[in-house]
Amino acid sequence: RAKEEGRGRYVVFEAGMDEAVQQKVAIATDLRNALGGDSGLSVHYQPLIDLVSGRVTGFEALLRWAHPERGNIPPTVFIPIAESSHLICDLGYWVLRQAVMQAKQWLDAGAPPREIAVNISAAQIWNTDLVADVKSVLEETGFPPDLLCLELTESLLINLEENRVRSVLKALKALGVVLALDDFGTGFSSLGYLTQLPFDKLKIDRVFIDGSTESVRKAELLRGIIGLGQGLGMITVAEGAEKPEEVELLRKLGCDVVQGFIFARPTPADIALTFALQQDSVALMYAAQTTPDD
Ligand code: C2E
Ligand code: MG
Ligand code: MG
Ligand code: MG
Repeated sequence: RAKEEGRGRYVVFEAGMDEAVQQKVAIATDLRNALGGDSGLSVHYQPLIDLVSGRVTGFEALLRWAHPERGNIPPTVFIPIAESSHLICDLGYWVLRQAVMQAKQWLDAGAPPREIAVNISAAQIWNTDLVADVKSVLEETGFPPDLLCLELTESLLINLEENRVRSVLKALKALGVVLALDDFGTGFSSLGYLTQLPFDKLKIDRVFIDGSTESVRKAELLRGIIGLGQGLGMITVAEGAEKPEEVELLRKLGCDVVQGFIFARPTPADIALTFALQQDSVALMYAAQTTPDD
């Protein structure tokens, strides 16, 4: 009897596994089709704000997918699936080209020069000619290389002994683009690589901002990370500020740039255009918005 029960559970477990795997395969198939045509993929843009001037310094391009039947699927769900099914390379190239074309349009529409940041998956370094792709998108669009920022995560640095990562990053720097280390502090690689690789920016993960105004220890950790970035000559960017107190703390700690829902969520290009054209301080706009006037 015990054996039967065990067997039963085993079968149920297997069936559950199959379903999850099947779902992933289905999503990967739909994603492949979406890439080929007009099936709900789009790029949203989230402004980055300079903490001294309060002005928009740039935008991060973030992929969105409105699935025809399943509704909106967040990137935290479909990006890992794209990564495990090798779709991420085509997807990543598509986002890069869309985002740079969009940023060029804003420039042409009279917007002040602003950076466009694009997330790059490690697979794009390993399995594609990223340098050639970036070069061709810049040439095709005529977009200034120094306004393109590529965001890479620490997961990339696991295989640092291999020269490929080093040489690709070096070649990208030679093109004139900006390099950012994304989600800093959440990976598991050693800190040594920070002195060895040509990163211009340190993007501090949201987990270090969250709770920093309520805990002295968390605030000290944040201070340390910002100091580390500054000491190494990098621009520090805080991800995920949601409260005015967090913005104030980040400013006090000398962080350079902030990206967070407090200023703006990722939005479609037509709405982001308002931020792109904005000459004045967005921080003042925020202050004006929160002034109780009714
Ligand atoms: P990421 O590159 O670290 O992007 C920042 C994430 O933080 C975005 O999540 C953004 O919406 C979110 N965020 C910004 N401000 C706040 C805030 O104040 N509060 C909270 N709670 N969240 C905030 P999103 O758009 O869901 O993207 C998640 C991740 O998916 C990205 O993290 C990135 O790793 C990946 N991703 C998105 N688009 C692409 C892409 O085109 N290519 C690749 N390879 N990855 C992408
Ligand atoms: Mg990013
Ligand atoms: Mg991040
Ligand atoms: Mg991330």
